[in-house]
Amino acid sequence: MASITLNNIVKKYDDGFPAVNDVSLDIADGEFVILVGPSGCGKSTLLRMIVGLEDITSGDMMIDGRRVNEADPKERNLAMVFQNYALYPHLTVFENIAFPLRLAKLSNSEVDQKVREASALLELDDHLDRKPANLSGGQRQRVAMGRAIVREADAFLFDEPLSNLDAKLRGQMRAEISQLQRRLGVTSVYVTHDQTEAMTLGDRVAVLKKGVLQQVASPRELYEQP
Ligand code: ADP
Ligand code: ADP
Repeated sequence: MASITLNNIVKKYDDGFPAVNDVSLDIADGEFVILVGPSGCGKSTLLRMIVGLEDITSGDMMIDGRRVNEADPKERNLAMVFQNYALYPHLTVFENIAFPLRLAKLSNSEVDQKVREASALLELDDHLDRKPANLSGGQRQRVAMGRAIVREADAFLFDEPLSNLDAKLRGQMRAEISQLQRRLGVTSVYVTHDQTEAMTLGDRVAVLKKGVLQQVASPRELYEQP
């Protein structure tokens, strides 16, 4: 896992208006940071710049102290965990997790070992032969995380992973993500507009408004504010 440092990050789209304006943030190795704010405040833009799907207009981004502004997404080695989990419906859990290893042309025995390690960690051992359609929402989320774990990603990036779920499932998944994060200790940036997620999941909460970072504090500090 890795630290992520953002120094004075700016994003201007074609209209010239800064969607993200001078954001500086240090994310420690193993830390879980929540990016919260209303729709349109620049959360997705910031996350997409971090993962490398969007160019940074100005400012510096570092992973473990190494500047990566121009590095392509593959070199950054960050894993986006998408809202729909982006699982392949025709592949088993095993092959979904193994996918990046197959692309990297690892031997069958290496693939087997890495998938089994990840699935043990994620408690998916008993479901390796299933297809995504036959899994619960929480299990699907874990398969998506398993895929990030086997490729030894430096950090996980979550873009509103729970926003399409009903309230009950959302509550279950929140608990599950929180538990996994504690167990795995992976550096994570998690975007949400949901206050409950912001106040219960992260080590620190970064509040964005109109592209500007208003505040970065622990949930407790935010809660105890006058
Ligand atoms: P959030 O994720 O907080 O809802 P976004 O990062 O999606 O916010 O958007 C921040 C601002 O940037 C908004 O004003 C939005 O309209 C604008 N924006 C987002 N993507 C683009 C784009 N591809 N081109 C132009 N403007 C964009
Ligand atoms: P279980 O109780 O078996 O663990 P979940 O609590 O994860 O299942 O799922 C509860 C309901 O939500 C199920 O009907 C399931 O089909 C549905 N569901 C699961 N995953 C998703 C998802 N990613 N998006 C929408 N609905 C889902």
